[in-house]
This record gives sequence, structure tokens and C-alpha cells, in this order.
Amino acid sequence: MNSKPKIVILGAGYGGLMTASQLTKELGYNEADITLVNKHEYHYQTTWLHEPAAGTMHHDRARMPIDYILDLKKVNFVQDSVVEIKREDKKVILENGEVDYDYLVVALGSEAETFGVPGVHEHAFSKWTVNGVREVKEHIEYQFAQYHNREEGRDELLTFVVAGAGFTGIEFVGELTERVPELCKEFDIPREKVKMYVIEAAPTALPGFDPELVEYAMDLLESRGVEFKIDCPIKEVIEDGVILNNGEEIKSETVVWATGVRGNSVIEKSGFEAMRGRIKVESDLRAPGHDDIFIVGDCALIINEEINRPYPPTAQIALQQAGTCASNIKALVKGGELKAFTPDIKGTVASLGGKEAIGVVGKKKLFGTSASMMKKVIDNRSLYLLGGMSLVVKKGKKPF
Ligand code: FAD
Ligand code: NAD
Repeated sequence: MNSKPKIVILGAGYGGLMTASQLTKELGYNEADITLVNKHEYHYQTTWLHEPAAGTMHHDRARMPIDYILDLKKVNFVQDSVVEIKREDKKVILENGEVDYDYLVVALGSEAETFGVPGVHEHAFSKWTVNGVREVKEHIEYQFAQYHNREEGRDELLTFVVAGAGFTGIEFVGELTERVPELCKEFDIPREKVKMYVIEAAPTALPGFDPELVEYAMDLLESRGVEFKIDCPIKEVIEDGVILNNGEEIKSETVVWATGVRGNSVIEKSGFEAMRGRIKVESDLRAPGHDDIFIVGDCALIINEEINRPYPPTAQIALQQAGTCASNIKALVKGGELKAFTPDIKGTVASLGGKEAIGVVGKKKLFGTSASMMKKVIDNRSLYLLGGMSLVVKKGKKPF
């Protein structure tokens, strides 16, 4: 390379933004050109999106301009959508142009996994993005607003189905249980008219999580009116509800899809070998056979050798991968050894709405208010890692 190497980062979520931020610290202005491409002019905290989806938080609180985090004198920011990566030409095709790279970081996040269930894209809400959750929130409110003006099909308006009792489904329904009483009051609807179902294919909610904490979460949510249907896969989503494997049909105008994720469709479109849209990366986070392409966040697949299963895609891992990725790019640009990535899983804490949550941090189990406080501390920590104390001051949550 004669001129400065061109480093292109795709996606300004946890993985991409943190990689860009680290690179601006690791490399001097004269050592590389850094370009960040993102669909929107803002970054959003994907991990907060269950809140604006239910309407317990305004969506603007969960997003922030990119320059809250990055010094745009050091990074060339391109607002555009990635269409395809042309690996042979070392080029990325965007909706409105293209960009060449010497080193590429793919951090485009994930999309809904449907496992082939028909009707999801047509009839369910499955986009965990700012645009996606804003639509869910508006739709929910509109169901309440219509209720007194409809003669028929009124029960469906107030029946809410959450597909999947993973962390996303549980966190969303927790927020919904907080919002429903407020909506009932606003639209003069008796609380008992509203039905909330969480439908889960596996024999338990939150499969693989601590059973005592799962029981706590289920008991709490049931006490707030949620009905669980466990061991009960959804077979199809139809215009006015869902059909379960056992043949049962639940009529509902609102199906929120949260049955897991797959890597961004750009991965498969660009011809990478992938499992559910995720690339099984080398230990240094490069795509196999590509010395110049790093994959971080939900597009990357890494195996937990202890249990021989993939690590679940999380923000926690995306942020950690960004550090290794930036340091390895620095090694390629300036010389030095590439490091292997090893996840350091600190725990998992999930909110249940209001001042309730469950979690495991280290070996300690947390319930209720202490878990809820810990969740807010974790949310603030991710802000701190991305943008330092000033971002926590602008966007942070109050732990109490
Ligand atoms: P993202 O943070 O999703 O960022 C991807 C970025 O790419 C976005 O900015 C997007 O706009 C951009 N993009 C996408 N497609 C294109 C395109 N074609 N062109 C240009 N730009 C594009 N994990 C945890 O560790 N803890 C939690 O508490 C937690 N809570 C969660 C709660 C919810 C409701 C959800 C949905 C997920 C949660 N997760 C949590 C998982 C976590 O959010 C993801 O693992 C994490 O966001 C992955 O980071 P990423 O950088 O790969 O992708
Ligand atoms: P998930 O894979 O964790 O859970 C999806 C659930 O949907 C599973 O329990 C699965 O059995 C169920 N399911 C699959 N097909 C179904 C069907 N046809 N009918 C009914 N149920 C079905 O996915 P998620 O909850 O979307 O989370 C995605 C990722 O984000 C995970 O890695 C998760 O750990 C992470 N996340 C973490 C947090 C947190 O730490 N607080 C919160 C949200 C998400």
C-alpha cells in the first residue's frame, strides 16, 4: 500500500461504533483513513429498544447523533445503506454509491430469525430498530383507540401476542405490562379486557437460564396478567393472529416477533459462508480466507468450546470484540502480533418492567429491585464505554 490504508467499518451499532472509536485512539490521523458507513445519522442502543416498543421510553432517548460518540474530524462518516460486499474488488456497494477498502470491518448487526414460519414478515412486527419499534408503539396505541369504535373483532384489538420467551420477548412483555394500565386509563378500557400471551417453543421460558430466576420472572409477569404458552411452537402467523403447532389459533391484531436472530442479510448476499447469516470467524475475528475482513457483533459466530455451542449474540460480546478488532487492525497497519479474541462474560441481567429484573452477575443471582438497579448500571456502562462520562451525562439512566 503506497498511500494511507483505507479502513471501512460497516454499521454504527455497538461493534462498529466501538471499533471506530478505538481506532481513532490507536491510529494517528496520518496513519489511516477511517470511514464509517451507517444507514442512519444516529446510533441507537439496541439493548434498550423493548422500552420504546412498548412506549415506556421515548425512542429519542435510545438514539444519539454519531458525533456524540465519534470525533467526525477523525472519521469520515457516510450515511447510506450497504447493499453488498464485493470481496474480489475490495469494494462495498451502497444504495447511493460505493466505497473501496484495504481493511473492512463488518458490524451490521442482526435481523429476525423466522425458522421458516410463514407469515412473519407479512403480519408480525419483527424489526428491533428505531423505525421498527416506533411502529409497534403507534400500532399498540391505535388498537386501544379503535376499541370503542368497533362492533366486531374487538377482542383481537386488545390481544397481544409475543412470539418467543427469550430475553427480548420477556423484556418486551415486561414493559408492555407496565404500559397497559396507563393505556386502559387513557382509553377508558377495563384492564381485564386486555390479554397478553407469550408463546414459547421450548419446554421452558428463557431456555438455558437459571430455573429459579425463570420462575421468578414468570410468576411476576403472570401476576401482571401475562399468559404463557410453553412448549408450544408457533406454526404460522396469519393476518389476524397466530396458529400454534397444536392447532390452536389465537386471534390478535398484534404479534411481536422475538424468536431469535440471524446475521444481517448482506452477509449471505455477499457470498460469505455463513450459518444463519453469521460467519464463523477465526480466533483473530477475521472471516476465514480473508486477511482483510473482520467481522464483529451479531454477524460473527464464535463457539463456546466448553459447551460446543455458539455464544449468544450480545452487545456485551460485540463491545469486547471491537477492542480486539481495533487492536488487530492496528497491528496490520503498523506491524505487530494479531491477538485472539476471548469473550469475558460478566453475566446477564434482563429487565421485567418497572423496578423489576432478574440476572446473574458472576456467580451471584439477582432479583427484583437490586437486579433492576444493576440493569441500569449495565446500560450506563455501555454508554460509558462508547462515549465516556459525557455520554452518560447526556443519555444515562438513573439507577434508582
Ligand atoms: P447493532 O448494535 O444492532 O448495530 C448494527 C448497526 O448496523 C445499526 O446501527 C444499523 O442501523 C446498521 N445497519 C444495519 N444494516 C445496515 C445496512 N444495510 N447498511 C448500513 N447500516 C446498517 N445484549 C446484551 O448484551 N445485553 C442486553 O441487555 C441486551 N438487550 C437486548 C434487548 C433487545 C430488545 C434486543 C433486540 C437485543 C438485546 N441485546 C442485548 C442484544 C444486542 O442488542 C446485540 O447483540 C447487539 O446490538 C449487537 O451489536 P452489533 O454491533 O452487532 O449490532
Ligand atoms: P433467543 O434466541 O434468546 O430466544 C428466542 C426464543 O424464541 C427461544 O426461547 C426459542 O425457543 C423461541 N422460539 C423459536 N421459534 C419459536 C416459535 N416458532 N414459536 C415460539 N417460540 C419460538 O432470541 P432473542 O430473545 O431474540 O435474543 C436475541 C439475542 O439477544 C440473544 O443472544 C439474547 O441473549 C440477546 N438479548 C439479551 C438480553 C439481555 O441480556 N438482557 C435481552 C434481549 C436479548
